[in-house]
Amino acid sequence: MEPTRRTKIKDLLETTGDGRSVLCKGWVRTKRGNKNVAFIALNDGSTINNIQIVVDVASFDENLLKNITTGASLAVKGSLVVSQGSGQGVEIQASDIEIYGTADPETYPLQKKGHTLEFLREIAHLRPRTNTFGAVLRVRHALAFAIHNYFNSKGFVYLHTPLITGSDAEGAGAMFQVTTLDLKNVPMTEDGKVDYSRDFFGKSCNLTVSGQLEGELGATALSEIYTFGPTFRAENSNTPRHLAEFWMIEPEMAFYDIEDNMDLAEDFLKYLIKYALEHCADDIAFLCKMYDNELIDRLNFVVNNDFVRLRYSEGIEILEKSGHKFEFPVSWGLDLQSEHERYLVEQHFKKPVILTDYPKEIKAFYMKQNDDGKTVRAMDVLFPKIGEIIGGSQREESYDKLAARIAELGIPEKDVWWYLDTRRFGSVPHSGFGLGFERLVLFVTGMSNIRDVIPFPRTPKSAEF
Ligand code: ATP
Ligand code: MN
Repeated sequence: MEPTRRTKIKDLLETTGDGRSVLCKGWVRTKRGNKNVAFIALNDGSTINNIQIVVDVASFDENLLKNITTGASLAVKGSLVVSQGSGQGVEIQASDIEIYGTADPETYPLQKKGHTLEFLREIAHLRPRTNTFGAVLRVRHALAFAIHNYFNSKGFVYLHTPLITGSDAEGAGAMFQVTTLDLKNVPMTEDGKVDYSRDFFGKSCNLTVSGQLEGELGATALSEIYTFGPTFRAENSNTPRHLAEFWMIEPEMAFYDIEDNMDLAEDFLKYLIKYALEHCADDIAFLCKMYDNELIDRLNFVVNNDFVRLRYSEGIEILEKSGHKFEFPVSWGLDLQSEHERYLVEQHFKKPVILTDYPKEIKAFYMKQNDDGKTVRAMDVLFPKIGEIIGGSQREESYDKLAARIAELGIPEKDVWWYLDTRRFGSVPHSGFGLGFERLVLFVTGMSNIRDVIPFPRTPKSAEF
């Protein structure tokens, strides 16, 4: 019987070659062979593995075969049989081949293998067709799914916080302005300022740098919420760990103190890594082989070991005593750079570290103030190769202390009055954190540049695709 429905390659490769008729569709990765027989490696993105199509040259039109080149898209009918060659269980003995679209070998940019990641960034519109990006994007998907799975199973509510914000008190980084004003003819007030009352929202607005403040509004009603959405930071930092548009997961929990917060962060990260190891074994094995030989060991190590929990002050002491020469010299009060974070994790403890109780000057206004008057109940989770992967804290629940800090920092009341209402009415101890999704994907895939773990990276001077 002629099959009319396509079977995905992943599913074909998981079955046995019993000679039944199958229909399979995908893009040609390679074609080789001789004048009698051709072997086509076909991939449809359902798995890193290709299925081999065996073509009896004599039974097909010469022109058709000539047009089957790397990158061309095909529909293939044939019988699924036990593979003669080694390396895979089944292959398709082709009876019918239809070319959907050719890919001219002279101009198709992925004609040859082994392009650098830098080159592939310049053709980000085509790079999903490579093995590397197929693997990364499947892992990214699995992690996103696992995140929802984790929180859903714990009764957290997925809260959709706004991407356009009228508050510039989030304080996590420089913002992108959102406006419909005519930039060639900006309305001005009498005292020479931009007249935002004439703008779309009637006030100055930006893209959000974090959903946390709104997340707290949800948590102080629903107990446990999480956000998972894009955030935007106009930081002009061209590092391998920063994007201008990235995705963040921000759980926020009523009745959690900082210990509960750390327990959740550690359990969450371990769950996600374990999930990826179980569900993306082929992709992770490929990335391990190609980019980072220690990847699988590192992932297992994180899953199987307790994170070190340490105060910022103790961390500073260790760094000072290390004798290591840092680009940014270490002293109490320093906002730790990635070099310091990685020293603690990779050289000193050789384990993930949760650093707590940072100086209040280098942390946001909403963090719970410790009794020493100098530090706040912050917690950053530091990972090997990445540095900071999570930033969080217990939040200040006292209206008076929070209002005092807001005044001290000169944050206008008009920007935060609604936030302060959570402390005015039914205030509770609560905590939360932000996990940078791309930093997680970096860690799990072993890639080293954040531009290579998001389909279409947004960085300074780069927003083509
Ligand atoms: P960093 O010091 O690395 O710039 P941050 O202190 O600005 O980070 P937070 O404001 O605490 O970070 O944001 C929470 C999390 O979001 C971070 O732990 C990190 O995983 C991620 N993150 C922050 N900025 C970026 C960025 N520009 N691109 C990608 N991920 C980011
Ligand atoms: Mn930052």
